Amino acid sequence: MTYSKIIGVLAIQGAYFKHQKAVEKLGYKTLLVRNKQELDSVNSLIIPGGESTAMIIILKKHGMWDELKSFCKSYPVFGTCAGTILLAKKSHGLECFGEDNTFSVMDIEVVRNSYGRQVDSFKTDLEASISGSVKTIPAIFIRAPQVIGFDEQKVKVLSYCEGSPVLLQQNNCLACTFHPELTDSLDIHDYFCKL
Ligand code: GLN
Repeated sequence: MTYSKIIGVLAIQGAYFKHQKAVEKLGYKTLLVRNKQELDSVNSLIIPGGESTAMIIILKKHGMWDELKSFCKSYPVFGTCAGTILLAKKSHGLECFGEDNTFSVMDIEVVRNSYGRQVDSFKTDLEASISGSVKTIPAIFIRAPQVIGFDEQKVKVLSYCEGSPVLLQQNNCLACTFHPELTDSLDIHDYFCKL
């Protein structure tokens, strides 16, 4: 089998194995990305959920921050939960890292931990407009961020949960505030891989 692309999964922290499995089930080749050489070998990237502050500390400490930031400006990227926090132009709750605290590639504004603590995590079904139809997808929210603003000219909302945008797209960047990799549905990964 020959592959036209290699989907990278940032493997610093968080649920990266589950993303890798989902993408491999769809028939794509994947690579876990932990350094510059691995980043240079992929042409798209999934940034998993986990803990955005831990990822920022590790990426900055190991000199990966600027590399990733420029990668995200040039290639398709898919951020889930903490990944969305990192893709946003503005994320509230990262002020301790100074001005340069996100990759700043999507014109969205988010608030971290907006639904409360771990015990306030929840699972629900959402309607998502993807791949030309409306699909029902299961969604797990774990200490999720909330999108409180976005540029309506640039960003498309593909799904809402109780009035809040939870799946958004800007060109080749996709962001969701929940964890699609923790369910059996491959719809969102499939959509990203085809971008
Ligand atoms: N609360 C986490 C953060 O701020 C995100 C949680 C998640 O990715 N499930 O980074």
